[in-house]
Order: sequence, then C-alpha cells, then structure tokens
Amino acid sequence: MACTAIVGINWGDEGKGRMVDLLTEDFDVVVRFQGGGNAGHTVKNELGTFALHLLPSGVCRKGVMNVLGNGVALDPESLLREIKDVKSKGISVTPDNLMISDRASLLLPWHRTLDVLEEARLKDKKFGSTKQGIAPFYSDKFQKKTVMAGELFYPERLKAHLNALREWKNLILTGVYGADPVSEEDIDKWLKNSCEKIKPFIRDTRAYLSEAQKDDKRILFEAQLGALRDLDYGTYPYTTSSSTVVAYAPIGAGLPDAQIDRTIGVVKAYSSCLGEGPFVCELFGEEADRLRKLGGEFSEKDGHPYRVGPIDLVATRYGVQVQTATEIALTKLDILSALDEIPLCVKYRLNGQEIDEFPFPAALDQCEPVIETMPGWKCDISGVRNWWDLPEEAKAYVNRIERSVGRIVRWISVGPERDSIIRRG
Ligand code: GDP
Repeated sequence: MACTAIVGINWGDEGKGRMVDLLTEDFDVVVRFQGGGNAGHTVKNELGTFALHLLPSGVCRKGVMNVLGNGVALDPESLLREIKDVKSKGISVTPDNLMISDRASLLLPWHRTLDVLEEARLKDKKFGSTKQGIAPFYSDKFQKKTVMAGELFYPERLKAHLNALREWKNLILTGVYGADPVSEEDIDKWLKNSCEKIKPFIRDTRAYLSEAQKDDKRILFEAQLGALRDLDYGTYPYTTSSSTVVAYAPIGAGLPDAQIDRTIGVVKAYSSCLGEGPFVCELFGEEADRLRKLGGEFSEKDGHPYRVGPIDLVATRYGVQVQTATEIALTKLDILSALDEIPLCVKYRLNGQEIDEFPFPAALDQCEPVIETMPGWKCDISGVRNWWDLPEEAKAYVNRIERSVGRIVRWISVGPERDSIIRRG
C-alpha cells in the first residue's frame, strides 16, 4: 500500500502541521520519524489552536493512529505537558490513538541542562538552539549513551544503566561546565513523575506498522523542520541534529521497507529562519519588519522576532531535490496580499558570478541574493478556494515557483484554518 510523507523544503515552520492536519482525512496512521520537542507545529481547526511539538499532527483527527517512531527524541516531560494541553482542549490521547516505539531513545534530564550550558559558553557564537536538549540528546544516542523507551519495562537493568550514564555525565557537568551534578534522587523523581506515565503508550511499533502495511492501511510520515536544517544536507553546522529528509523516514518511523511513493514538500510563500546561520535572502530594516508583522514571524514564547526574506528559489529548488518531493504544498500565500510588489530571490551572486545551484555551506556567507520582483495582487485572497478565482498576479507567482522547482503546486494555503486551502488537479 502507498505511503506518503509530508516534509519541509525550507528552514522549518513552513506549515507542515497544518498540511498534515488537513490531509489526515485520507490516512489511518501518522508517524513522526525524527526530531523532538523543539520546533513546533501549529494546527488550527474546529477544536481550537494547538501547538504540537512531539505529538504527530494526526492527533486532532478521530480514528487516526499516531506513532512516535524510533527516530524521535522522546522527552517524556515535554510529551506529558503536550498531552495535558491537547486533552484540556477536548482531544482524547490514549493508547488507542498514540503509540511510542519501544526503540525510541529517551531525552534524559541532563540533555536540556547541557544544551543551555553549551549555548551560554558559546556566547555570541551560539547556534540559536531552542535549548530543548536536542543536540546533546542525538550526540548521546550516537555514542550509545542514552536509554530506549522499552527499557522502562526492565527496572533493574534500567537503574544500573542510568547510574552508569549519570556517573559519566556528571564528570562533564561538573568538570567541563562547573555545574551541579545530577543525583540519583533526581533520576528517581523523573522516572516516577514522567516515565511511568508514558509506559502505557510504549510498544513494538515496528510490528504494528508492518501489520498496518500488510492490511493496506494508509500511512503518513510527518517530518519536523526542513531540508535546510537536515544534519547532512542542510547548512551545517547550523542544522538540527537529526535527519529531516524523507530518505530517513522509513528508518526513523520503524518501517524499514516502506515504499514512499508521494512526498509532499511544504514550501512557504516567503522565507523565515529561526536561529543562526547563513540566510542569503534575508531582509533587514523596514521591509523585514513589515513582512515579519504580516506573517506573524515572532516567537510565541517570548516575542523574539524571526529572520525573514522573500522566497529563495535557489534554496527551495535544492530543498525539493534533497527531499525528492513529488509535489508541493505552498503555504501562507495570503500573507503577501498586502505587498505592491513581491520580491523573489532567483539566483545567488558568488565571486561576481550568478549561480542557480545551492552552494557548499561555507560559501553561503559570501553569497548575495539576486532579487527580481513580480506585481502584487493587493486584495484579500483568504476566502478563495478555487484556483481560477485567484487574481492573475497570484497565479503568476505560483506558476513561477512551480516552473522554478519543477514540481506541481498541488495545494495553496491561504490561511491557517483547516479549510483555507486551494486544491489543484
Ligand atoms: P510547521 O512546523 O512546519 O508545522 O510550521 P509552524 O506551525 O511552526 O508555522 C506555521 C505557522 O503558519 C502556524 O502558525 C500556522 O498556523 C500558520 N499557517 C500555516 N499555513 C498558513 C497560511 O496559509 N496562512 C496563514 N496566514 N498562516 C498559516
């Protein structure tokens, strides 16, 4: 049976959660295959507005099974907070609609602490981490120095394992950073208050997904962040610490033989970038302030302004290639409605030459954007539901993106609500 993936083409925050929430109508299972409680998906539907971090965005649909695969950074505390939040808005979260892979590694209490300490040590060279412990978690996972969720069912072994890890980690916390060590009581508290509560959700999800595949269930893979934040293909070292590309989905989801025949790449109608690192198309000053305000590109937590720019066709084409996207969902087109002219970054200028190909990360600092403009449509399009009802200028903008990336734009999102969508062919 066919599997579909929804992935980010840009720097993240493209509106993947919004697309998953819309498209889960046609799916039985939604699987998150990487990432953790750092970047969030905002989903707005008839039940309310949800800031989902770890929970798959299928949680808002009745009858959909949501799976947290082995590739995620499973933070029990942040997951429980999220479950509490969605439950308070009337959504039921039980083992009947949420499963956690027994092979998902646990984000341990010291990972967040280490993230904060390292960002503070880096001072102005910081990466702009969300301080959720993601980088320390993934590096420990690859050093084989964390525990798998399934180990919670082997308490004796778990205790010895955690004590050994704690002993090692305390050398780093106290020796390198001069911070307080983590005590055995801290860990016991964490096990009792958080880990015990997620146990009912843990199971062999590989076996479940394999059965689901045999039963012709429709499976959707949901990614976090975007291609340009992928550990291998992104703007390293200003990336996240996991694989955000679709090629990792079968592994991180726990369905190694998944045949993904549709990959929906989510592209935002303009660019935004949370955190540090090269961002060639970045706007500054009044122009940036205006776009930022129109798009609401501020941190929900502390109002911190995000970096913004016009759509970057060089980076978007590259994102489409590394994601092997078969089709595009273009989001937030309504945000551009107020502009007289729509800027587009169509090429980069590097060493006096114009280039179309996304360069090696170290060269990005020397690249300048080549900007072209297209006429704006200057009217509200948030109520449009039919391609033919879009103003000609908006259609021309979408067609330009389509030609540039070589993929059909199958969905155009004109608002955050579930039904604010234009479907094409
Ligand atoms: P994700 O991490 O890729 O799911 O993206 P986020 O949820 O972090 O960011 C997307 C933001 O844009 C959310 O606040 C959405 O509600 C909002 N959004 C998504 N699509 C649209 C759209 O077409 N128009 C507008 N105005 N907002 C949108």
